[in-house]
Amino acid sequence: MSRFMSPRFAGLEAYTPGEQPRDQVYVKLNTNESPYAPSPEVLAAVSQAEVEKLNLYPDPTGKVLKEKLAALYGVEAKNVFLSNGSDDILNFAFMAFCDSERGAAYPEISYGFYPVYADLYHVDSKVIPLKEDFSVDYRDYCGIGRMVVIANPNAPTGMEISLAEIEEILKSNPDNIVIIDEAYIDFGGTSCVDLIKKYDNLLVVQTFSKSRSMAGARLGFAIADAGIIEDLEKIKYSTNPYNINRLTLAAGEAAVDSNEYYVENAKKIAETREMTTVRLREMDFTVLDSKANFIFAKSNSISGKVIYEELKKKGVLVRFWGKAKIEDFVRITIGTPEQMNVLFDKLEEIIAEQKGD
Ligand code: PMP
Repeated sequence: MSRFMSPRFAGLEAYTPGEQPRDQVYVKLNTNESPYAPSPEVLAAVSQAEVEKLNLYPDPTGKVLKEKLAALYGVEAKNVFLSNGSDDILNFAFMAFCDSERGAAYPEISYGFYPVYADLYHVDSKVIPLKEDFSVDYRDYCGIGRMVVIANPNAPTGMEISLAEIEEILKSNPDNIVIIDEAYIDFGGTSCVDLIKKYDNLLVVQTFSKSRSMAGARLGFAIADAGIIEDLEKIKYSTNPYNINRLTLAAGEAAVDSNEYYVENAKKIAETREMTTVRLREMDFTVLDSKANFIFAKSNSISGKVIYEELKKKGVLVRFWGKAKIEDFVRITIGTPEQMNVLFDKLEEIIAEQKGD
């Protein structure tokens, strides 16, 4: 920290994204990207013609994309907010709805950015442990009287809570925002988007980064009651109104137009996930039941650190935290079946090497 930085950030510990090494070509199963390319429509939309318009600012309202998303999700355009990745939306939500008096609550094992935003805005946080089986106990959040943030399915566990449980949290916290982060919802989970019509305190956050193969384009969206959307727009127009660039807007519109392509890919990924779960259990791994495009798994005989390090040496990247309660787990993104076969081969080798065969 230089002497110029405000002392209010002295204790801030920034988020560490998953590694993106450039030293060799890895089988990249560490940051939950889609293994499939964007649709042909998206590739066509990011065209020479669009590039030639880069001298012009993009539409700060994102009108066309909002209308397309509203039609897809059965809501109105005024219920849709767009931003530069869903991280941006979470940032805005903490900025808008929390302060030193309005706290937040989220699970202890969840997306690592929640505590960073909480610290950034000096928000008092209640960090709630998961149950023994790694599930979120919705009762812990009922009547909690603070902003609630739950990833559903949760990351990095991949486990889901039900719509009925989400409703209980919403009903019992009528004066607080409940954020359901649905970054991984398209791989087999049940979205709570429809509940925005019944609960004006629900903010559903989604992203184009996972099921829509656009992590590199940075596009996220939120769906909520129009009042919440207006609050988020106020923050956006007070920071960076043009936070979605022209190429990303065009790509996003084309992605919604080619929704079927992404539904098919999500189905393929869910099938590969089920195959991977079975295969790893056969290799003596404990694998949580996942509804996401990743699995959370631990070998019953080899430490998480060794699995992570040996896989990396063999050219396969997975995510490892080495944190209390999950020290032996690694999170493995679901790639193509071919990529998963490489993973299985490398794991077999590691298991044999560790046994000293
Ligand atoms: N929420 C969760 C639970 C995530 O895992 C991620 C991906 N790191 C995000 C939000 C942010 O994704 P993006 O900013 O790419 O939309």
